[in-house]
This record gives sequence, C-alpha cells and structure tokens, in this order.
Amino acid sequence: MYIEKQALPYENLLDDRPLKQIELMVIHCTELPDLATARSYGEKIHYASGTGNSGHFYVDRGGKTYQWVTARKIAHHVKGHNQQSIGIELINEGRYPNWHHSEQKSTQAYSNEQIDALIELINHLHRNIPSLKHIAGHEDLDSSMITATDNPKLEVRRKIDPGPLFPWQHVMKNIQLINIGSIAKKYE
Ligand SMILES: [Zn+2]
Repeated sequence: MYIEKQALPYENLLDDRPLKQIELMVIHCTELPDLATARSYGEKIHYASGTGNSGHFYVDRGGKTYQWVTARKIAHHVKGHNQQSIGIELINEGRYPNWHHSEQKSTQAYSNEQIDALIELINHLHRNIPSLKHIAGHEDLDSSMITATDNPKLEVRRKIDPGPLFPWQHVMKNIQLINIGSIAKKYE
C-alpha cells in the first residue's frame, strides 16, 4: 500500500527498539479538525529529550496514509504502553474543541475511505511485524478522569478515542489481531 513518509523533525531523538518488541496496536483519533492541526500538535516539544507526542501513522479522512515515525522508534502516544506498541491516529474531530466539557459529544462519523485505509494499514503492518498480536483503543488503555472544564464538580474521561463512532465490529471482521480492549469490546 502507499504510505507517504513525513518524518517528524525529532524522529531521530526517539528511542530505538527492535521490531520484535512490538505486540500491540493502539487506535486513536486526533480529536482535531484536520491533518495540518494534528501535525502542529505532533511537532510540539514536550520532553527534555527534545521530543513530543504523536502516533506512528496518520490516516486522513479521504484515506491517505502517512508515516510520521518509523516503527523502530518508540513514539509517545499512550501512557504505559509505548515500548511495545504502534500508534495509529485517525483524523477525526472527536470532542473538539470541548474535549473535557461535561457534555461529552463526538458527532463526526468515520468515512468508509478512512476505515478501508485503516484496515489495509493494519493488515500491512501485521504481515511485516509478525510479533504484533493485540489491538485496543486508546480509551481502553487510559481510563483516567479529569475535572470538567465547565463544571468543577464533575469529572469526565481524559481520553475518549477512537470513541463511540468507531466501527470496531467491521474492523475486527477484517483483521487478524486480538482485541484486548474492554471498551472496544462493547461495540463489537
Ligand atoms: Zn489517543
């Protein structure tokens, strides 16, 4: 499949790993309006090492697929699971721009082109990285709560991605990985 390489400026500063260390694929959505905004977030420096937060792959709404970090580098995309995982980000608004508003709304559907490209990417990676076994959504791996921005008495989920509109059932029918996510399972 065609994947456009657009390495992040700090890719070389991320830690190396052998491909066989990779066993988990994590599905995210950017909760941002478009690819360009996601890129500016990805390029931001957050750590003393000169690196920031990003997935390895980004799938745009029309299905075009980009690689920002090589699989042999450890990207920062999910707390506690980065060492052994690959992060795939889908461009989708999610709760943007009121991520932590007490009313949690995700209204943008995933397009067929985007989901087809995601399935192709997952199968491509699975063929090339045989140690890959599991898949989960970011929300399955980080269930932390945060104070709602509009109501200090309420708490909301810090992360809801890929969110309730992600078609887990369709995706799982078309890939060979094992779904280890409890929230993902709810939508199967
Ligand atoms: Zn995420």
